[in-house]
Amino acid sequence: MHIAFIGLGNMGGPMAANLVSAGFSVCGFDLSATALQQFAAHGGMVADSVGRAVHGADAVISMLPAGRHVEGLYLGADGLLATLPQTTLLIDCSTIAAQSARTVAAAAAQAGLRFIDAPVSGGTAGAAAGTLTFMVGGSDDAVAAARPLLAAMGKNIFHAGASGAGQMAKVCNNMLLGILMAGTAEALALGVKNGLDPAVLSDIMANSSGRNWVLETYNPWPGVMALAPASRGYSGGFMSALMLKDLGLAEEAALQSQAATPLGALARNLYQAHVAAGMGQLDFSSIVTPLRQ
Ligand code: NAD
Repeated sequence: MHIAFIGLGNMGGPMAANLVSAGFSVCGFDLSATALQQFAAHGGMVADSVGRAVHGADAVISMLPAGRHVEGLYLGADGLLATLPQTTLLIDCSTIAAQSARTVAAAAAQAGLRFIDAPVSGGTAGAAAGTLTFMVGGSDDAVAAARPLLAAMGKNIFHAGASGAGQMAKVCNNMLLGILMAGTAEALALGVKNGLDPAVLSDIMANSSGRNWVLETYNPWPGVMALAPASRGYSGGFMSALMLKDLGLAEEAALQSQAATPLGALARNLYQAHVAAGMGQLDFSSIVTPLRQ
């Protein structure tokens, strides 16, 4: 099976590499020359345009920053929906608005193509290890067709419902993650200001009722966890600008459905100020930095 992979960044690069390791023939495209070189070093084929990458593909997987990039790839006169044969399976793994995913899925259906939204959780470590969780929205037959590909990149595949349902689940999860990261950072900063060792406090909370995923795998305090982005200057990982995007998607969904999300709104405001202060490219655990000062 031949796969085109569009977007070989922090997440897409290792995901595409895992498809190669699983024996799929994968041709990748990215606007960044560095991303292309890294994928080629992992045994992938690379193309110098989207058109060349998708030529002859049985499936297209996209892993792009935001909804505008995804809509730009698939929709419009030169979009993929206008050019691909109807047998091509389309899988978008980017985190975008559920409404945006539904728009692309409806346009795909009109063109006779199958499109699923399949955003992921698990971070760059999960992408590299092939242990991502996929939250999928789309028809039963499209999801069944995508399963072997998703299984090569992740260990959990949840079919959340119709088109857009995967994105909705992802937005709820990431709103909670943003709240948990900000809350964990705040608790650590308070403890350290009052004389506690951040590693000792982390250990105590990870074994007490404050326990959560951030404390277990992604500690925001530098030096507490050797493999966490905090211990390498907040490089790599999940950029604060992307967390801000996801918290914005949660707020938009809350407004549309008249849901109350007071903590999500607070977290969005914290990340908005953080990004405005020039921290957008740093991992989202860097939210601890202003709290420490
Ligand atoms: P990234 O910025 O590292 O990668 C995105 C890549 O897309 C970049 O290499 C960029 O050059 C490329 N790109 C942009 N426009 C393009 C286009 N038109 N054609 C081809 N390539 C294009 O971001 P990432 O961290 O890999 O995140 C990708 C998506 O995954 C986002 O929607 C993000 O919210 C989501 N996500 C990220 C994480 C994480 O931990 N990083 C976790 C879960 C989900």
